Amino acid sequence: MGFPHFPRQKTPFWRILLSGDFSLQKVIEQRMNILVVNCGSSSIKYQLFQMGKAVSLVSGIAEKIGMDDSYIVHQKDKNTHKIKLALPDYFSAIEKIAGLLTDAQWGALSDKREINAIGHRVVHGGEEFKSSVVIDEKVLDRIKFYSKLAPLHNPPAYNGIKATMKIFPQSRQVAVFDTAFHQTMPEYAFMYGLPYKLYTKYCIRRYGFHGTSHRYVAGAAAEILGKPLQKLKLITCHLGNGCSITAVEYGKSVDTSMGFTPLEGLLMGTRCGDIDPALVGYIAEKEKLTIKQVTELMNRKSGLLGLSGVSNDMRDLMRCAEEGNARAQLAIDVFVYRVKKYIGAYIAAMNGADAIILTAGIGENVVVFKKRLTKELSNVLRDEIKILTIHTEEERLIAIDTFEIVKDADEGSRK
Ligand code: ADP
Repeated sequence: MGFPHFPRQKTPFWRILLSGDFSLQKVIEQRMNILVVNCGSSSIKYQLFQMGKAVSLVSGIAEKIGMDDSYIVHQKDKNTHKIKLALPDYFSAIEKIAGLLTDAQWGALSDKREINAIGHRVVHGGEEFKSSVVIDEKVLDRIKFYSKLAPLHNPPAYNGIKATMKIFPQSRQVAVFDTAFHQTMPEYAFMYGLPYKLYTKYCIRRYGFHGTSHRYVAGAAAEILGKPLQKLKLITCHLGNGCSITAVEYGKSVDTSMGFTPLEGLLMGTRCGDIDPALVGYIAEKEKLTIKQVTELMNRKSGLLGLSGVSNDMRDLMRCAEEGNARAQLAIDVFVYRVKKYIGAYIAAMNGADAIILTAGIGENVVVFKKRLTKELSNVLRDEIKILTIHTEEERLIAIDTFEIVKDADEGSRK
């Protein structure tokens, strides 16, 4: 499927002739190779695309970086190659990935210098980054700065970018932020009812996450519906291990369920989502836990896992519920109810909706979930509100953003 945010604006031939720069023409003819890198706390996902058509050439994941049993799973043409090897840090992992990209059998390039640009997934860009940007020293500093808002996510991205800059010194680097898409939320949607000075002093507000996924599926939904995104009211539901739901009005995020951190909102695999904030102190007191331990409990031991006592995986829960496990069924019921409640809220927030989009592991695969939601929303859903299942492809959108930014920068510098 094509993608509506991807206008193919070829540089007019007369401009190349006037500039006398035939290397630009060469790039356009050869098409750009864009590497997408997503650094987690101990893993690096990567995917190499050839643009203009955003064709994926190879992809893979380096896992357990810094641990004894690290490995890379690499894929080319649906063939998988698993290599067990020592990956003590991000630098060595990215070096090995560079080797695989240029490997005679498993690679797609003959030289790493053929990579024109690298797009990095960065979780937090604060209020500062409202769209994707070329990374320079100043941007890199700011990504580090926002580690205070995303202590688990921004440091690996920062380290990954530093390593990629060294290993691919000739490639431009672009940052694509999870928070950027939600920067269009109005103040009344992103402010908490806390003393205002906490916002000015510590940047405490709602940011929202999964922005690249929400933006991708909203664009894809517009294409499926055959209408411009700017004329649609959409509710996008990213339901994976982490879950969030966004009201996308005329192409802009106007509200989203995750907040200052990804803990707020829907029930998730191991996160509790919305709770009474007074519970933090209450649980700490009763269970004799520190605030840090309560935060850990809410992030890692709650949600589907905490409620069911069985698993954080929806597949396990559905099987157990089928076998009569009441708590597995309860966890599923809480999950569905909360999605339904947010959909109702966002229909109200936008004064209607044209479609609800389900994506990510649960959203894309659990057919009974879509059926149940359709049934439960039958009183709210007028005929014109459709429920669509769309496969999210965050990496593809990161590649598209990177391509567009680098291409614009090239064209700008030649004007
Ligand atoms: P992440 O947020 O880590 O990328 P995913 O998008 O892969 O996670 O979603 C993980 C969730 O999706 C798990 O609860 C898992 O059970 C569920 N899931 C994935 N595939 C299926 C499937 N085929 N059937 C049912 N549930 C699935």
